[in-house]
Amino acid sequence: MKIAFIGLGNMGGGMAANLVKAGHQVRAFDLAEEALARAKANGCETFSTVQEAVQGVDAVVSMLPNGGIVDAVYGKDVIGHAPAGALFLDCSTIDVATARSVGEAAIAAGYAAVDAPVSGGIAAANAGTLTFMVGGTDAAFAKAEPILAAMGKAVIHAGDLGAGQAAKVCNNMLLGIHMIGTCEAFAMAQKLGLDPQKFYDIASVSSGQCWSMTSYCPVPGVGPQSPSDNDYQGGFASALMLKDLKLAMEAAETAGSKVPMGQRAKELYEGFVAASNGGLDFSAIIKTL
Ligand code: NAD
Repeated sequence: MKIAFIGLGNMGGGMAANLVKAGHQVRAFDLAEEALARAKANGCETFSTVQEAVQGVDAVVSMLPNGGIVDAVYGKDVIGHAPAGALFLDCSTIDVATARSVGEAAIAAGYAAVDAPVSGGIAAANAGTLTFMVGGTDAAFAKAEPILAAMGKAVIHAGDLGAGQAAKVCNNMLLGIHMIGTCEAFAMAQKLGLDPQKFYDIASVSSGQCWSMTSYCPVPGVGPQSPSDNDYQGGFASALMLKDLKLAMEAAETAGSKVPMGQRAKELYEGFVAASNGGLDFSAIIKTL
């Protein structure tokens, strides 16, 4: 298949390379020269504008920083320039409302479109082990699935357009909340004189168990290897967790949903990021407790 790939950053770079490995012809565009050079080295054909990259393609995949950029790129340079009938797959994490409006504009112009945000970070993008949560019609999902499967370990149809982003913000709001809860529990256990390893041995097989504890423990040397063992470098940046919590709060407001814990998690990450910790893994918030 001929696929245009727009946004070859930390995530998109590895994803585009995996499409090449799966035998697709990838036509790549990014504003950054460095990202384009890496894509070329990984077997993509590179272009200096989006409009050139989308010529003659069957599908367009994008992995961009935010909804404003996704809206501008599709509105100005993809819709009306890609061949009629092409499938658009936006894998960026953006707000539900923009995901719906961009997808609807594409469909009205004769294209197929899905929102397909991912769970999993840079390592999963490089390894082709992302999880995709997909919003769109059954027909669009059927077309999107084999393309996404080349970049991930799971491709799940979440519902109609926007449902992928809805699943993503709800999941990441829960992640932010249980990471902070896990950090609080370990910090308090230690203050109460409990050894962190002993607390882990008990809580990891008790009712307090959660992913932040057993797969991503915020205490160095406890649980499986995680960013806490590497001085909180790598992993999922606190700035990106804050971005997702802000999107979750926007979605909650639009939907009229009460999210007091999500709101508090957003405030705590806001303070943490404002104190120059945005580049640290999100489990580093334990340092503030
Ligand atoms: P990044 O900043 O590394 O990459 C974004 C790329 O988009 C950059 O190379 C940038 O030059 C390019 N870009 C910006 N504007 C552009 C435009 N108008 N046209 C073409 N290219 C443009 O970010 P990332 O970490 O790769 O994240 C991408 C998306 O994936 C975000 O929406 C993010 O929330 C989401 N995400 C990231 C992670 C993660 O761990 N990094 C995990 C899950 C989801």
